Amino acid sequence: MRHILLWMARNGWLKEHLPRLPFARRAVRRFMPGETAEEALAAAEPFRTHGIGLLFTRLGENLSDLSQAQAIADHYHGLIDEIASRGLDGEISVKLTQLGLDLDPDATLAHGAALSEHAARSGKTFWIDMEGSAYTEATVAMYERLKAEHANVGLCLQAYLRRTPADLHRLLPLHPAIRLVKGAYDEHAAVAFRKRSEVDGAYQSLAVLMLPQAAAGELRLGLGTHDLALVDRIAEYATTAGFPKTCFEVQMLYGIRARDQVRLATSGYRVRDLISYGEAWYAWYLRRLAERPANVAFALRQLFG
Ligand SMILES: Cc1cc2nc3c(=O)[nH]c(=O)nc-3n(C[C@H](O)[C@H](O)[C@H](O)COP(=O)(O)OP(=O)(O)OC[C@H]3O[C@@H](n4cnc5c(N)ncnc54)[C@H](O)[C@@H]3O)c2cc1C
Repeated sequence: MRHILLWMARNGWLKEHLPRLPFARRAVRRFMPGETAEEALAAAEPFRTHGIGLLFTRLGENLSDLSQAQAIADHYHGLIDEIASRGLDGEISVKLTQLGLDLDPDATLAHGAALSEHAARSGKTFWIDMEGSAYTEATVAMYERLKAEHANVGLCLQAYLRRTPADLHRLLPLHPAIRLVKGAYDEHAAVAFRKRSEVDGAYQSLAVLMLPQAAAGELRLGLGTHDLALVDRIAEYATTAGFPKTCFEVQMLYGIRARDQVRLATSGYRVRDLISYGEAWYAWYLRRLAERPANVAFALRQLFG
């Protein structure tokens, strides 16, 4: 099921036709408050009362023309201003292919630098998503270049990739901000662990490796996962080592484990909810379905109203 859904995510014909179907538009609402930034910002308000921070991402990847990268960057500059003017504890998270990585890496670097600088003015981190493994090296290298000039840049690393421990060791001296996730793409066994136990084991080892530096304030650690048992194990390790609860942040997606996000925040953990929005939701939505087959049943129920 996972492989079929991830194949569907890459299929051009389905990408063009499926999003037009009303049932698909209804189903995606479970994970996305709307297609506009205004809808995403409005959905952020209830989180404020629980002390839960936000991450915002405008969906989309792989551009065909560099002028689109400028438009995306302009959009994010406007969003940074809007977040600041509303006094939200909100940060942005962006895919580098949205900023033209496929077309002109220097232009992407310039957009990343300008967005980091802008985010820094309100004391916020500019986050970089991690995409499929074809982009890992370029993304890590771009992160190194940005981080050399801007302290407030964060990067997502995927625990399922066999190369991630080496990438982490490469980045640790930079005092990075890392969002650790399991990984959402369909990767070959040569580059990624495919068994759940292996991915979970890799995730835990990477998190535990980062904890001392996170506790010393030399690294910002975001655990981007809904796997509560895994979060509990990492939290237990931190407690036993005498690290404070605040040494990491739990980051989850909008619409998933909403009650647990509030529970974690009220019990003293730092929590951040990622709100996605935009018209280009097809491939992203299929990746969410692939993560949990029960979501497919939910989507199909929308077909019958
Ligand atoms: C804040 C954040 C940012 C992310 N950024 C990236 C990124 O930049 N690059 C990338 O490759 N991946 C990213 N991901 C996705 C990530 O790689 C995983 O695919 C996703 O989080 C599912 O794995 P899991 O860690 O939640 O664990 P799983 O073992 O997949 O799930 C654990 C439990 O969480 C619940 N759950 C998980 N997923 C869903 C879902 N879709 N719907 C309903 N319940 C669910 C289920 O109860 C499941 O049993 C991000 C995830 C988060 C939370």
